[in-house]
Amino acid sequence: MQLVDIGANLTHPSFHDDVDAVVARARAAGVSTVIVTGTTVLESRVGAEIAERFDFYATAGVHPHHARDCDATTIDALRQLAQHPKVVAIGECGLDFNRNYSPHPDQEKWFVAQLELALELKKPLFLHSRDAHPRLSQILKTHGVQRAVAHCFTGEREELRACLDLGLYIGITGWICDERRGTHLLQLVRDIPADRLLLETDSPYLTPRDMRPQPKARRNEPAFLPHILKTVARALRRSAEEVAAETTRNAQALFGIA
Ligand SMILES: [Zn+2]
Repeated sequence: MQLVDIGANLTHPSFHDDVDAVVARARAAGVSTVIVTGTTVLESRVGAEIAERFDFYATAGVHPHHARDCDATTIDALRQLAQHPKVVAIGECGLDFNRNYSPHPDQEKWFVAQLELALELKKPLFLHSRDAHPRLSQILKTHGVQRAVAHCFTGEREELRACLDLGLYIGITGWICDERRGTHLLQLVRDIPADRLLLETDSPYLTPRDMRPQPKARRNEPAFLPHILKTVARALRRSAEEVAAETTRNAQALFGIA
């Protein structure tokens, strides 16, 4: 079995001391490739270095939480980072109207700027959307974006429909294992076409709540992706091997990786 974790924040401080062990465990668990998520210009640079070191991949972008810190140099810096052979997508970018760490006009301005960069560079987008439906879909539609993944999809049926109509891939995390807020996803994943589904941990966040025992300090890591795979496969009433093969193919197709 070969899995691709399409979203792991391996630049997070909680991985600083033992990233080698984390990567070794991921590989032992069948997670052969990780796409390291970039959330600021600086983190994206570090993410590309980690990708190079472990023969993984990375994204380059600014998370909507940090939109307020963007300035006239941001897009050029991302454009340069995108030349790195391991950088396969622009993002994580999008809109977050849940936490609202950055004002909405800033979020929209820098989301559109990154989206235009992705179109210019012909790279896929790694999208973050939280309580931002339908605004985010409207923006994607206006700009004709098609190559993108709705990372960590947690929405309802109508939002899923809108994403699929736009041609997006859908990233499913351990949110689906959360008995408090994720059970609707057990139904919804059946509406995702087999060639649109992707799996991710969003490490170190979103540790699957039903994993026993729970990891130390509840830190999530790419080695736990098979747990999410099994939950998704059970919900689909299909074999984990099949779902693993399909989601790996999908990741390779979207990000243009071998
Ligand atoms: Zn996110």
